[in-house]
Amino acid sequence: MKSALITGITGQDGSYLAKLLLEKGYRVTGAVRRNSQTEIARLQRLGIADDITFVDFELGEINNITRLIRGTAFDEIYNLAAQSFVGSSWEQPIYAADVNGLGVARLLDCIRTYTPQARFYQASTSEMFGLVREVPQSETTPFHPRSPYGVAKVYGHFITVNYRESFGLHASSGILFNHESPLRGPEFVTRKITLALARFARGEHVPVDLGNLNAQRDWGFAGDYVEGMWRMLQQDKADDYVLATGVTTTIRDFVRFAAEALDLDLEWSGEEMTEMAVDRRSGKVAVRVNPKFHRPAEVDLLLGDSSKARGTLGWQPKVTVRELAAMMARADYDGWQG
Ligand code: NDP
Repeated sequence: MKSALITGITGQDGSYLAKLLLEKGYRVTGAVRRNSQTEIARLQRLGIADDITFVDFELGEINNITRLIRGTAFDEIYNLAAQSFVGSSWEQPIYAADVNGLGVARLLDCIRTYTPQARFYQASTSEMFGLVREVPQSETTPFHPRSPYGVAKVYGHFITVNYRESFGLHASSGILFNHESPLRGPEFVTRKITLALARFARGEHVPVDLGNLNAQRDWGFAGDYVEGMWRMLQQDKADDYVLATGVTTTIRDFVRFAAEALDLDLEWSGEEMTEMAVDRRSGKVAVRVNPKFHRPAEVDLLLGDSSKARGTLGWQPKVTVRELAAMMARADYDGWQG
């Protein structure tokens, strides 16, 4: 039986990855932060919380990481823990650097010292591309991150590459484009949209305020993406891979897809900064632009080229963005507790 450690197991990806590994017969250890109340709601929702061994973990604390890595021989270690919300990274840039950047070095150095045979996955991100240098973006596209989150993740990416090249670790970095699900945190734009529209469709007519509706993202389903993470660690040779759908969609179109799934009939009007969508049936505003939600430095267009992962790993996403928006909107509609 293989054993895996997942940091960030309480998050969206950690939950789906834990489910996948359990289905494959792994023994799964979940590294969780000690909070006043440990949040395992996502794992409970997937029905797997009881199958996981939980250990206390904080990516900012070297002693804690050392004890964990020294004490157990894991076959695979997935580092998904991060301060993962771009918006918060402008408020907490030092913390983002410490956890998303230096935290990776802490983990890798313990692996190098105590368990160099373990295979390591680092959760890198398309936010490292930031300012558009080329479209689509692949493993060879230069990075130009546009947020403290992205800058810290670039460090995490390169320290992973460096430990692979310097010490021969089986360390891979997955450069993942946005991936969502009904388990996505409510602060992320897709879930913010589906939660608000589900509430609206249930008759609670409160508009959702959004930032730049023209921002374009390459959105896939988290369940598909964790399969790609696992495949990376099954290769003889560690490497870096982009996972993406290759389809980019504006935030406005994501709203449209979610609204369609909920049978809402939206009419759009106004210019970029004053744009809004009114529900034709109720006559109420369902969506409006609020400049407060524009990022200090915007990432305008993310579109990934995942041909390397498709060719080498045999990976491909199964859920389209339209299906994803509908899946999330319906889950929020069904789960609505007004
Ligand atoms: P989530 O925000 O859902 O989960 C983040 C996880 O990290 C949570 O379990 C959280 O614990 C944990 N965590 C945060 N800070 C610390 C810390 N200091 N020490 C230990 N654990 C910590 O993110 P996702 O599941 O969506 O993403 C997983 C990873 O993939 C992240 O690294 C993210 O940056 C990256 N990524 C995500 C993409 C996406 O579209 N989802 C795209 C590309 C990369 P707690 O529950 O206590 O908050």
